[in-house]
Order: sequence, then structure tokens, then C-alpha cells
Amino acid sequence: MTSTLTPTLGGAKHAEAQLYVTATHKVRSSSGKPPFAWVPYGAQHAWQAGSRKTLCGEWTSGWTVFWDRPFSAAPHEACPACVEASLPEASRRRLDPALRRTA
Ligand SMILES: [Zn+2]
Repeated sequence: MTSTLTPTLGGAKHAEAQLYVTATHKVRSSSGKPPFAWVPYGAQHAWQAGSRKTLCGEWTSGWTVFWDRPFSAAPHEACPACVEASLPEASRRRLDPALRRTA
């Protein structure tokens, strides 16, 4: 395990930074007319420009960044861990009943 910190994330407020969709694979969209756009295949993770990791902590080396796609929690394919990490801390606590119960 590496303990290398990502400087761009140090002290940054995630909620205010622009997050983009990143995914391990991309495929050509099969809808609409050519030229078909590249679309994420599989889980859609949240990525902040300048970072080397997704919000959920995956290394993004070799991954595709979709600069025209702001990360959204709406798609079914959105990574749950990234969705959670992109929420403000107050919302996270509200969404996690286990934290309240053990407090
Ligand atoms: Zn993720």
C-alpha cells in the first residue's frame, strides 16, 4: 500500500470542485447517428481534474476521462462510493444511519 498523498486533493473542498466522469472502459455509443460518441462502459466514477485517483480511491491510470460529462449521481452506473464521496459531509452523515446509531 502506498501512502502517497495527492496534493491537489489536500484540503480541497470536493463539493465545490468540478467532477468529471471517468471509467475503466469506453465504448462507442450505439444510439443516434455517426460519428458515435465514446460513452463510459461499466461503473462511472467521479474524478477531479489534476487528481490521479477517483473520489473512491481507485487509481485512474489508463482510464478514460469524459470531459464533456460532469459526474452525476443520477445514472444507474454511478459508483456508489464516488457518489457518497462527492456529497457534502453533512449529507453523508444524514445518509448513513449507522453513524447516528453508534454516536
Ligand atoms: Zn468510484
